[in-house]
Amino acid sequence: MPAFQEYFDPSHQLVRDSVRRFVEREILPDIDQWEEAESFPRELYLKAGAAGILGIGYPEALGGSHEGDLFAKVAASEELMRCGSGGLVAGLGSLDIGLPPIVKWARPEVRERVVPQVLSGERISALAVTEPGGGSDVANLQTRAVRDGDVYRVSGSKTFITSGVRADFYTVAVRTGAPGFGGISLLLIEKGTPGFTVGRQLKKMGWWASDTAELFFDDCHVPVGNLIGAENMGFACIMGNFQSERLALALMANMTSQLALEESLQWAREREAFGKPIGKFQVIKHRLAEMATALEVSREFTYRQAAKMAAGQSVIKEISMAKNFATDTSDRITTEAVQILGGLGYMRESLVERLYRDNRILSIGGGTREVMNEIISKQMGL
Ligand SMILES: Cc1cc2nc3c(=O)[nH]c(=O)nc-3n(C[C@H](O)[C@H](O)[C@H](O)COP(=O)(O)OP(=O)(O)OC[C@H]3O[C@@H](n4cnc5c(N)ncnc54)[C@H](O)[C@@H]3O)c2cc1C
Repeated sequence: MPAFQEYFDPSHQLVRDSVRRFVEREILPDIDQWEEAESFPRELYLKAGAAGILGIGYPEALGGSHEGDLFAKVAASEELMRCGSGGLVAGLGSLDIGLPPIVKWARPEVRERVVPQVLSGERISALAVTEPGGGSDVANLQTRAVRDGDVYRVSGSKTFITSGVRADFYTVAVRTGAPGFGGISLLLIEKGTPGFTVGRQLKKMGWWASDTAELFFDDCHVPVGNLIGAENMGFACIMGNFQSERLALALMANMTSQLALEESLQWAREREAFGKPIGKFQVIKHRLAEMATALEVSREFTYRQAAKMAAGQSVIKEISMAKNFATDTSDRITTEAVQILGGLGYMRESLVERLYRDNRILSIGGGTREVMNEIISKQMGL
């Protein structure tokens, strides 16, 4: 991949190299087996923690490194995707949606207890916003938390939660106030709290290596000290969190496209039909040229928005555009890659088969394509 020196410096290359070595050593030898088993060993969190990968982007005082260095995070996420399993990346990386609200808004004693254990890989963090009644309309969420002395009594349920079965710390969106966005708060709910149960691991089209679950709260008593941020200010925290999640999903889509393109190029050179490599047929050559063009444009646009985010600019509209553009591109490129590989592209033994399945969630999770378009059009004054 080109160096993109305007965004990445030599320290980012060191991050890239170290994550790449980790992926080659600790993930690639077993990933096919983990995908089929729909799980990866919990020990991998400890290994990623010890290698410093989980801590990238978090404060040193809490066990992290490269705080505020967004392109270190970009480099690490891109290299992790080289394992070819979006499910593993989503599962190992669920801390990146669960933890930021705790780092930014939890009480110091909660932050100092929870964050280091997650960054070391001893404990797992998850974010629980989506409910069986709907995920897009966050302002309408129904899980209720009623203050009663020094606890909140929580009742309701969540679904499609990444790392839902295995997590220890759940950052949960609840309704503490009136209907609408002004009545939402975030609570840290810990595994083992009476009244909190985890449902079955849900079977999925893709992301097999990640666990995805339903959560149930039945008069679950949560200490008021576990409130993250101010009461009824949760909606703004959730929306802030979505910005980095949407960047991460755009990067994931671009890396999905990158891997699918690499597989297609290699096959186009090797596979022969009608006496010549299929890459010599103009229709395939041009298809590959168009795939490469779309990816290049998508990656540049995504990096540009990351650079603006790193500079503290608001990119609410642009990050939604980047997510939609990157996922439109990866939809197209994974479809074309399966076509170029022919029958092999449909076989579980080929990487593009997994990329095609894993890719499908990227325009749904973290805000659907339609929700992104709602945000973009609203920002356009429509
Ligand atoms: C594998 C996986 C992992 C996930 N991980 C997590 C997680 O860790 N934490 C978490 O909280 N959630 C998670 N989710 C949930 C995900 O964020 C939601 O599925 C997503 O936000 C969409 O919500 P929904 O499924 O309820 O669809 P709905 O909101 O019911 O939407 C259904 C359809 O209606 C469309 N629609 C809705 N509103 C509008 C509108 N205003 N205009 C036009 N169209 C509209 C949507 O775009 C979509 O096409 C995960 C989902 C999956 C599949």
